[in-house]
Amino acid sequence: MSRIHLLSPRLANQIAAGEVVERPASVIKEILENSLDAGANKIDVEVEQGGVKLMRIRDNGSGIDKDDLSLALSRHATSKIRALEDLEAVGSLGFRGEALASISSVSRLSLTSRQRDQDNAWQVQTEGRDMDAILEPAAHPEGTTVEVKDLFFNTPARRKFLKTEKTEFRHLDEVVKRLALSRFDVAFQLRHNAKVIHQLRQADSELEQERRVASICGSAFIDNALKVDVAAEASGLRMWGWVGLPTFSRSQADLQYFFVNGRMIKDKVVTHAVRQAYSDVLYHGRFPAYVLYLELDPALVDVNVHPTKHEVRFRESRLVHDFLFRSLHRLIADMRPQDQITAGDEPTTVETMGSALQPPMSSPAQTFEQSRMPLRQSSGASPSYSGGYSQPYSSNNPPVNQVAEQISGYAALHPSEESSALPAESSEHCPPMGYAIAQLHGVYILAENEQGLIVVDMHAAHERIVYERMKQSFEEDVVRSQPLLVPLSLAVSEREADCSEEHASTFKRLGFELARMGEETLVVRQVPVSLAKGNVEQLIRDVLADMLVYGESKRIEQHINELLGTMACHGAVRANRQLTLPEMNALLRDMESTERSGQCNHGRPTWSQMTMTDLDKLFMRGQ
Ligand code: ADP
Ligand code: MG
Repeated sequence: MSRIHLLSPRLANQIAAGEVVERPASVIKEILENSLDAGANKIDVEVEQGGVKLMRIRDNGSGIDKDDLSLALSRHATSKIRALEDLEAVGSLGFRGEALASISSVSRLSLTSRQRDQDNAWQVQTEGRDMDAILEPAAHPEGTTVEVKDLFFNTPARRKFLKTEKTEFRHLDEVVKRLALSRFDVAFQLRHNAKVIHQLRQADSELEQERRVASICGSAFIDNALKVDVAAEASGLRMWGWVGLPTFSRSQADLQYFFVNGRMIKDKVVTHAVRQAYSDVLYHGRFPAYVLYLELDPALVDVNVHPTKHEVRFRESRLVHDFLFRSLHRLIADMRPQDQITAGDEPTTVETMGSALQPPMSSPAQTFEQSRMPLRQSSGASPSYSGGYSQPYSSNNPPVNQVAEQISGYAALHPSEESSALPAESSEHCPPMGYAIAQLHGVYILAENEQGLIVVDMHAAHERIVYERMKQSFEEDVVRSQPLLVPLSLAVSEREADCSEEHASTFKRLGFELARMGEETLVVRQVPVSLAKGNVEQLIRDVLADMLVYGESKRIEQHINELLGTMACHGAVRANRQLTLPEMNALLRDMESTERSGQCNHGRPTWSQMTMTDLDKLFMRGQ
């Protein structure tokens, strides 16, 4: 072994660069964050060859003092924190003082800056193994330009890890998009090989913000999203943004943006809470789309967990989980078909019959508050709705496992409703989903409402209604449990055993009887009847694991819901069954009043609207 010696600053920086500078995208992230920290409200990014050849970022921020310029390129040099306490409530995106030093050690970097109210601009570059900075006068408006050329020119091993120009640019573009979503008050421009990719003006009004979201995430997203804005005053949490309708799900988790105090993060507590909120309305393996902003006291979140700060740690992760889950769950449950039938200041454009049957479009202007409003035209007072329609199970509450047997078809549920759902005389009482006019090939219900034609997939819609009702009766009913013939003994960790005791009442409510037999042993004596045949051991292990990490678990409910879903599917009215008009109308009224009825149990849409404008276009009327 050779003797110990100190590494040159450049080598030390190159080693540190391994953590933060992986590819052009990571350089862009650091430099844009510096511009935002400097208070810029206009940032131009110019890139050549996916960023590998050149990245030039110009901002109109506060600039850097001449005497600080060379220091900015040194490691552990920052203007953002001074003492450890500052870390507790960091308000800036950066604070580690490493980015510029790291980037300049693996590229040809120059930093040009003019501070506000100064006459001259100055430029620095670093050279050599000791990274001595060369300072020269330069011409530059107020603000800063960072130019990074030939990334990894001096670290060939790392250059080999770079992908094609296209791939590198895609990553870089994604970073710009995220930052552009994080700050509506800043104008961004991105050019690649002299071509303008994004040109985003400052977006102050909600409409402008939605326009920016549309240009970044696609207009289909904003057309199929609900605006949300909820606050929990006691805990000081606020969440706002846009969540995609369940019918606008994706095959990948590629349209999920979550910002915590303006910083884009990926966090498992957050992902879990959102996924759970959507769990009942998404087809297995589909992912929800969202752009969400969480605001909370900076002291309640630790951002110094990861060098690139992609992860955070919430001091009160259970509280955050609970807040996110509850708010989104409520929002999704409250989506009703009529929320999507909006007066329509922007008529949906339809080119072909096929695209008309796309998932229902919602107005971008919908807000959480609106979606929580009671039924618009048809309330309980509407003559067609109040006519003696009774919830089939709420009165007698049969045990869940008998419910399926009781459902044989839609007509059976509504034996004496012939008169109850007939169209009202005056059209001003026309309910949102309108009145049935016919049944198409035994599969679809055609209905006429104020806006035009409504097409309903009757099986899908009924399945959801039956399912929601079963869940409700299940919740109202005490969960019936049955003793196991042979009690099941489980070896668990001490933490898991503690956790099971802590949550004993939850288990009990869900029909389990769990007892602790020792430090690391649990015994299951009783389980819910409906789960008796399932893999109880795996379920309990998974539930305990969830509870340890997220403070709660919905797995038992989910398993029960899955069973109910299967029963609902069998209970729902089959295709090719002739329905009478009153039966069809009753189904439409149920859709209006049932939670989540816009999607079937698998997250597919249950209905679609073709407005008169859509139809006119189809026939080129008035053109
Ligand atoms: P950090 O952002 O963690 O402080 P950096 O290495 O990214 O560390 O930047 C070092 C310092 O250089 C910053 O603290 C800031 O004072 C200054 N700086 C960097 N970029 C800019 C910019 N665009 N405008 C003004 N100051 C900047
Ligand atoms: Mg920085």
